[in-house]
Amino acid sequence: MDLCDIRNVRNIMAAFGLKPRKELGQNFLTDHSVVSAIADECCLGMSDTILEIGPGLGVLTSELAERYPSVIALELDEKLIPVLKYTLLDHSNVRVINADVMKTDLSELLREPFASGGVSVCANLPYYITSPILTMLLESELPFDCITVMVQKEVAERLCAAPGSRDSGAITLAVAYRGSAELLFTVPADRFLPAPKVDSAVVRIKLYREHPVDPKNEELMFSVIRTAFCQRRKTLANALS
Ligand code: SAM
Repeated sequence: MDLCDIRNVRNIMAAFGLKPRKELGQNFLTDHSVVSAIADECCLGMSDTILEIGPGLGVLTSELAERYPSVIALELDEKLIPVLKYTLLDHSNVRVINADVMKTDLSELLREPFASGGVSVCANLPYYITSPILTMLLESELPFDCITVMVQKEVAERLCAAPGSRDSGAITLAVAYRGSAELLFTVPADRFLPAPKVDSAVVRIKLYREHPVDPKNEELMFSVIRTAFCQRRKTLANALS
């Protein structure tokens, strides 16, 4: 079924008695060339398993399932689970789990895939929780090959900014510490249902095998970075004190 056809999306939602839930960041992608490009580009051919966060109706999930041996999809909204069973019927290599990614033990869930063919993350992230999810993934130290995410365009620019530049923030440094980020392409707001207020962009972070610097205390380093950027109006010395 073509989940990029808006009529199909509306019919499915009606058949299951659902409406997109704004509070869960449910803006569904409806442009096949975008979905296909994300699936093509998300792991540079490095991983056998893709972890998708927030499969929604399964539009990206099915494209991933066609390209990679295994897909694990974590969806918070329990009402979407029966929908995903229906839309992903033909893809036996997809495991859908009803869970909050922020409350999931990813190290346990992905133990086997990490040990065998490697894991990358691919997601059209819910806007309300983009930074916490990215921070959690980056600080987790899990050995992902790539993390590819669709985020608000402004956030994408921040993720890819040069450290120290005007656009950079705490998350820029967390990204730079773990890998190299590349803004792949932008996606206009009208390619989603419902359309969000702002345009989006897809960022791929290829994770380093070894960190470029070797801090004595990593937790302290992240906490100093967060504090410094949280209180930008104070002088650095005041914020850190
Ligand atoms: N992947 C689909 C697409 O591209 O059309 C849906 C993307 S939509 C922007 C974000 C999805 O993330 C929604 O399905 C939402 O229910 C789900 N979600 C929101 N918070 C989540 C969380 N904490 N853990 C897992 N999924 C979450």
